[in-house]
Amino acid sequence: MERERHLLEIASRDALTGLYNRLAGARMLESLVAETQAAGQAFSVILADLDHFKHINDSRGHQAGDDALVTVGAILQAGIRGGDLAIRWGGEEFLVLAPGCGIAQAMELAERLRAGVARAEIPASGPVTVSLGVAQLAAGEAVAELLQRADEAMYRAKSGGRKRVEAAAPA
Ligand code: GH3
Ligand code: MG
Ligand code: MG
Repeated sequence: MERERHLLEIASRDALTGLYNRLAGARMLESLVAETQAAGQAFSVILADLDHFKHINDSRGHQAGDDALVTVGAILQAGIRGGDLAIRWGGEEFLVLAPGCGIAQAMELAERLRAGVARAEIPASGPVTVSLGVAQLAAGEAVAELLQRADEAMYRAKSGGRKRVEAAAPA
């Protein structure tokens, strides 16, 4: 039983950063959204993507890129609150789930995370920044739509000059 739990825990984690992996994270997102919709509570997500990360890999090497991902993952994990979850959503993309959080509070959290990453000293890679998109779940909204809005906000942060936070348009 103990061993089974241990294996399940390993299977739900991203090997590089130790955060939840996409498979486990997507399941948690689905069930948190269902719960908060049923209870009529607030729920927000923050999508964070490293800026010009390909350049770090190309100029400093893949290992330096990996170091940066580990550090960013640790900053996100340390910066979220008890009930929040940090997920390695894709290669250099992270998703934070913030149950009970409305858009204003989620924007504050995102801004803190952005600043924390910008301040980090990562010897191998040099400074890194992230662009973040924040979206609050609307009543009756599906997970895919919520993620779509967070993604659009994140791309607005990119096109607006990167290293910034943007709120999603209302659903
Ligand atoms: P943008 O600011 O527009 O996001 O530019 P970008 O260079 O970050 O975006 P792009 O999608 O072009 O490149 C992402 C890079 O992330 C390419 C890929 O090699 C790298 N990457 C993805 N996963 C890993 C990983 O696990 N380790 C390392 N070192 N690099 C990774
Ligand atoms: Mg990306
Ligand atoms: Mg990127």
